[in-house]
Amino acid sequence: MHSDDHSGVDSSAVASAGRWAPLRRRCGCGNGADRFGEHMDPSARAAWLHRRRSGAGIRPGARGDRLTARPTVADPEMTANAGRRTLVSLPWPRSPSMNQAESSTRTGGPAMKPPAFGYAAPSSLTEVTALLAEHDDLEPRVLAGGQSLVPLMNFRLAQPGYLVDLQHVEGLADIRLDGDTLSIGAMVRQSVAEDAPQVAAAAPLLAEALRFVAHRPVRNSGTIGGSLAHADPSAELPAVALAADAEMTLVGPAGVRRVPAAEFFVGPFETALRPGEVLSEVRFVRWPGSHAFVEFMRTHGSFAIAGVACLLDVDAAGTVRRAGIALSGVGPTPVRASATEQSLIGSVPDQDSIRSAVEATVAVLSPAGDVHGSTETRIDIARAYLRRAIEVALGRAGVEVAPHDGTRS
Ligand SMILES: Cc1cc2nc3c(=O)[nH]c(=O)nc-3n(C[C@H](O)[C@H](O)[C@H](O)COP(=O)(O)OP(=O)(O)OC[C@H]3O[C@@H](n4cnc5c(N)ncnc54)[C@H](O)[C@@H]3O)c2cc1C
Repeated sequence: MHSDDHSGVDSSAVASAGRWAPLRRRCGCGNGADRFGEHMDPSARAAWLHRRRSGAGIRPGARGDRLTARPTVADPEMTANAGRRTLVSLPWPRSPSMNQAESSTRTGGPAMKPPAFGYAAPSSLTEVTALLAEHDDLEPRVLAGGQSLVPLMNFRLAQPGYLVDLQHVEGLADIRLDGDTLSIGAMVRQSVAEDAPQVAAAAPLLAEALRFVAHRPVRNSGTIGGSLAHADPSAELPAVALAADAEMTLVGPAGVRRVPAAEFFVGPFETALRPGEVLSEVRFVRWPGSHAFVEFMRTHGSFAIAGVACLLDVDAAGTVRRAGIALSGVGPTPVRASATEQSLIGSVPDQDSIRSAVEATVAVLSPAGDVHGSTETRIDIARAYLRRAIEVALGRAGVEVAPHDGTRS
């Protein structure tokens, strides 16, 4: 079930908890660390959990202070603290019907929903990387739109001890079109990108795919960079970035580096971002052809079971010159349909050649099944939607696909 209740965890987030299972096993931010201590031997884990809960071993003024200075998220003090460092924990529950004593009894600890965390809202990337380095022992994370991270924290699937909020960082919310290169700052809200004329002109596949991400209120907060860095294998934007050969700009203590999408997504909720690094922007080079984004989802706005991002460059005779195709929801990362691309390039596609091009990719898929779709279901959906995406993109390029018996319809 999907809900637009953004007060915290909603039913969609609960339904998504199964998809987050890899986060329990591995790092919450995808950098490979064991944030939940589940890879440790039992005694080391007990000590680790004790340190996390009590703040033992953490220098004074960090964790200990958080438990005494706890403004709520609605507290004007916190708003006034934008740009400064503060210590915050969200109250649990927010309902005035349950008092602090009752909620403490329920949780057996301090009255709050996520674990306590430190917080800073700097205004420059230099400060961001400095803060991440300074609070390295607290397993810090950056906070973008909070649409994935906050529910994870509320479920305690992620327990960062320090959040560095990116919302006031200069230059991260820009969209620039320089010649054929579209640069989108990591903090550009998904709804802003969806409406941006530069995105429509240079990356229409992205604009189309964004309409499939959640609902508009979620896209008003959720960011382009947050979706890419979160690297949910079912998400739309990673598949778009992969199909379009997008490039990520990562800023960290060692400087700036550029990583192609093909190397950025390395596992479920896991990216090439190193500890202390931040995704600052994503670049798309204009694709001179047509596009299609299609996906299968149970209800509008919910996470898709599987989706396909497709870019085709077709000449006047209907010959495919270039193809960029990627699927979501059928592997631990978005999956590039390289075999399909190779099969299409150089041909004037008809029903038969499209079918065999699709099978070339589907034959090697082995998605893990879950409550949302079995392995077989995901493969069947991938087959149907890969075909559909190619046909839609060809249709938009003005190519009429000949039926399999060779006669044009
Ligand atoms: C009800 C609901 C439905 C949703 N449906 C969909 C859907 O259908 N499809 C979909 O794709 N998403 C969906 N989402 C998730 C949404 O798209 C999020 O916006 C997105 O996943 C994360 O973006 P964010 O800006 O909110 O990031 P946050 O939640 O703030 O951060 C997510 C993670 O990325 C890291 N991070 C964020 N920005 C950066 C950065 N610049 N550099 C390095 N690390 C960074 C954070 O530390 C965190 O680990 C849904 C969310 C909700 C609440």
